[in-house]
Amino acid sequence: MSKKRVSFSPGGCKMCEACVSLAPECFEIDQDTGMLMQKIEYVDEDLARELCAYCPEDCIEMEDVVEE
Ligand code: SF4
Repeated sequence: MSKKRVSFSPGGCKMCEACVSLAPECFEIDQDTGMLMQKIEYVDEDLARELCAYCPEDCIEMEDVVEE
């Protein structure tokens, strides 16, 4: 399966942690700062779509860049 790049815009993030639950390999809460951190850019396309759909604040976008 191809991977898509997801980008995260922290401005509207309400720290609901839906993305952390859905994709802990991609998002985590930094223990020092308490802020949401994006760990990797490329995820499976299905997961990228789910992340975009699950974020209630539309902070996560899928870009049209594919990693083969
Ligand atoms: S799902 Fe969206 S609003 Fe919730 S923590 Fe992740 S980026 Fe923030």
